[in-house]
Amino acid sequence: MAVAEDLEVASYLKGQPKKLLIGGKWTDAADGKTFETLDPASGEVLARVAEAGAEDVDRAVAAARRSFEAGTWRELPPAERAKALWKIGDMLEERATEFAQLETLDNGMPINDALLFHVPLAAATFRYYAGWVTKLDGATQQVSLPGKYLSYTLREPVGVVGQIIPWNFPLLMAAWKLAPALACGNSVVLKPSEETPLSALLLAELIQQAEVPDGVVNVLPGRGETAGARLASHPDVDKVAFTGSTEVGKLVARASADSNLKRVSLELGGKSPNIVFADANLERAVSGAFFGIFFNQGQVCSAGSRLFVQEKVYDQALDELLKTVKDTRIGPGIDPVTQMGPLVSRTQMERVLGYITLGSKEGARMLAGGGRPEGLEAGNFVMPTVFADVDGKMRIAREEIFGPVVSAIPFSDEDDLVAKANSTIYGLVAGVWTGDVARAHRVAHALRAGTVYVNCYHIVDPVTPWGGYKQSGWGRELGPHALDLYTELKNVIVDIA
Ligand code: NAD
Repeated sequence: MAVAEDLEVASYLKGQPKKLLIGGKWTDAADGKTFETLDPASGEVLARVAEAGAEDVDRAVAAARRSFEAGTWRELPPAERAKALWKIGDMLEERATEFAQLETLDNGMPINDALLFHVPLAAATFRYYAGWVTKLDGATQQVSLPGKYLSYTLREPVGVVGQIIPWNFPLLMAAWKLAPALACGNSVVLKPSEETPLSALLLAELIQQAEVPDGVVNVLPGRGETAGARLASHPDVDKVAFTGSTEVGKLVARASADSNLKRVSLELGGKSPNIVFADANLERAVSGAFFGIFFNQGQVCSAGSRLFVQEKVYDQALDELLKTVKDTRIGPGIDPVTQMGPLVSRTQMERVLGYITLGSKEGARMLAGGGRPEGLEAGNFVMPTVFADVDGKMRIAREEIFGPVVSAIPFSDEDDLVAKANSTIYGLVAGVWTGDVARAHRVAHALRAGTVYVNCYHIVDPVTPWGGYKQSGWGRELGPHALDLYTELKNVIVDIA
C-alpha cells in the first residue's frame, strides 16, 4: 500500500479489509469474499473490501425492512430527522480533505475538483434535503359529490429502497441517492460501484455518527451482476434508484418488471451536444467546450461530447480549443497541479482507446491526443482527444465513450443544428453558446434534453432538477422532484356529513 503517510486519509486506509454495513454492524461477506480497489494513477492496491453477494443483499434488505417496519427512522419527529441530515452535511465539510483524498485515490479525479466541487456539493445535498423533512406536506381536495367529505393527501415513504450507483462521482452519487431517500423516511440498501467503494463506506460511518438508527442505511460494495442484480430483482425491495449505463438501466427495469414491479428511477447515459453559435463570445464558449468534455476526464454522464460549431467560426473555435488542450497538465489526481487525472480503470482506458482507434478508422480528423501520455504508463491515463469533421452517422458521434474524447461537428443554421443535435437516443443535457437571447431560448425549447445550459456548462446545484429525456432515464433527481421518487401519495377520504 503506497499511500503517502502524510495524507489525512492514510489512517482510514490502514483499517482493512473494509467491511459491509448491514443492520448497523460492520460485517464480512457471508461467503468471506473480498476484492481489491486500485489507485487508477498507479495501478497499486488501495484497499481490500468485503464483496457483497446475493446472501448479503438478502440480509441487508431484511435489516432495512425491520428498521422500516419498526418505524425507528420514519416515525422520528421530522425535526429530528432533519437535524441528523444536517449533521451529516456538517461532518462531510469538517472532513472534506479526507473525503477529497479518498475520492481522488479511488476514482482518479483531480484533488482540487474533489475539494472544490464534489465534497461541498455532497454536503450541500444533505443540507438541502434536511430542509425538506419538515415540509413533506399533503393537500386537501374540494370534493363535489353530494354529501360532505374531507379529502386529503399524505406523503409516505416508499419503504425499502435499493440504490445502485456508478464510479464516476462516487461520493456525490451516494449523496444524491441517500439524502432525499432519508429525508422521506425510507430505509436504504446502497450498492456503490465495485470500482470505487471507499467514499460511500466512509460516508456510512458519518451516518452512524449522526445517529441514524441501525438498519436504516446499509452499504454493500459488490459487483453488478451479483449484488446489483439481486437488489434490482429482490421481491422485498419497494423501489430501486439506479444511476449508470443505459444498457444496465434496461436490465434494472426488466428485473423490476419480472419480480415485484418495484418503483424504478433511472439516471442513465448521454451524448450531449455543446453548441457554439457564431454570435457567441468565442473565448467563453471554447473554455466551456473544454470544461464540458474534459471535466472528470470526460467520465461524466452529461459530458459535452458532441461539439457543434457554426461553420463561420468552426476553424477558429477548434484552433482555440487545441491551444487549451495542449496546455493541459495530466498526472495523478492527488498532485494539486493536475488538471486531468487517470480514467477509473484499465478496462475503461482500453474502451476509450478503442473508440479513439475507431474514430480514425471511421474517417474523423484527429486534431489532438489519440493515445496515452508518455511517462505515465503505470496509470490509466488517456490524452484529451479532439476529432474534427465528425459525421453524425459515425459511431463516435452516436455512442457514449465516457472518456476525454470530443467529436466536433460543423453546422450551418439553427434548423440544421436542432435536427443534428436531437438525432441521438439520449437526451440528458445540452449546452448553447450565443449572444442572442431570443435564439438562446428558441434553441433551448427545441432541444430534447433534461437540462439546457445557456452560456455555461456543468452547473449543478441541489435545487436544479436532474434527469434525462429518451434513453437517458426515467424521473428527475434533485430539487423537490426527488421527493416524488421516494414517496407514495396516499389519499384519505372521510365522510364528515
Ligand atoms: P454501469 O451501468 O456499468 O454500472 C452502474 C452500477 O450498476 C454499478 O454499481 C454496477 O455494479 C451496477 N450494475 C452492473 N450490472 C448490473 C446489473 N446487471 N444489475 C444491477 N446493477 C448492475 O455504469 P458505470 O460504468 O459504473 O458508470 C458509467 C455510466 O453511468 C455511464 O453510462 C454514465 O453516463 C452513467 N451515469 C449517469 C448519470 C446520470 O445522472 N444520468 C450520472 C453518472 C453516471
